[in-house]
Amino acid sequence: MLRRRLPLSKQASLTKLVYWLSGKPFVKNDEIDIKEKFPNNEKGGLIFSADFEMAWAFRYTKDVSNPYEFALKKARQERINLPMIIKIFEDYSIPVTWATVGHLFLESCQQVTHGWMKRIPHFVNRCWQFTSGDWFDQDPYSNYKEAPEWYAPDLIRAILDSNVKHELATHTFSHIDFSDKNCPAEVADDEIKASIEAMKSFGLPKPVSICFPSGSWGNVPVLKKYGIIIYRKKINEVQLAYPYYDEYGLLVTLSSDVFDRSYPTWSSSDYQARYLKVIDKAIKTGTVAHIVFHPSMDPWMINEVMPTVFEYAAEMRSLGKLWIGTMGEIANYISKEKNL
Ligand SMILES: [Zn+2]
Ligand SMILES: [Zn+2]
Repeated sequence: MLRRRLPLSKQASLTKLVYWLSGKPFVKNDEIDIKEKFPNNEKGGLIFSADFEMAWAFRYTKDVSNPYEFALKKARQERINLPMIIKIFEDYSIPVTWATVGHLFLESCQQVTHGWMKRIPHFVNRCWQFTSGDWFDQDPYSNYKEAPEWYAPDLIRAILDSNVKHELATHTFSHIDFSDKNCPAEVADDEIKASIEAMKSFGLPKPVSICFPSGSWGNVPVLKKYGIIIYRKKINEVQLAYPYYDEYGLLVTLSSDVFDRSYPTWSSSDYQARYLKVIDKAIKTGTVAHIVFHPSMDPWMINEVMPTVFEYAAEMRSLGKLWIGTMGEIANYISKEKNL
């Protein structure tokens, strides 16, 4: 491709140009009265969700030579980043929807702990290759002090101790592909059941929100059975939408953008401008901007980009233009409005 033959700085300008000309983020229009959309008459909304997963997410990654080592490395970075992330959201009083892998709630486990769970059959998807062995083969069957990459009760306590009221949502129990194609309903059922059980030990209620791992989507009837009311979804056509009902009666919030340094040559101000554009467009169109991140991200994003974005969001909030909250909050608000 031509772009790859250009020097890095030119590549960056070209990528930026393509992004700004693309017209993204695209909007899903609706007929809902703006006065009914947000609790205090705000003009747009903003949700941040984090896929909190430690080593579980990367065990079967296709495009790295040693997925196991890669997974451990990601988990270690996540442990370094998490206190910084909690602090920065606290600085701006912004809540996060923490889509948490259920296994992270455990202090320890043994092989028998997961013995009852039905296992997903082997599959290959866009990102993963699970073609031999058991889904839990990398589980160290240990505890969070010995194997801190696989458990995170200490980090979950830090999230709960924060003075911002965060939401603990689910990201399945063992970071599974949740699609109808690869995940039989019995497996999906056990994953959600195990997550609820694990959260119970923290005195937490059943999760009402889910973010699917690996961009998968499916088994919605199982989610409904366990009381999930909203999920995050990524589609190519549209990035900004006010949460809407799917054919099963669950709410869908579309992901709008990701805090991810996917273009290393972009400057911090390039990234800041990009996220501010998403927020502004949500305000202009009465939709919800939903920005996703992985706590294992490049800390550069936390230090160089997030503060400006949060400062802007907090300012829009104080002007009464922007609602900022969690997936569960907007879902509860919408379902209450509907019952009136
Ligand atoms: Zn385990
Ligand atoms: Zn994930």
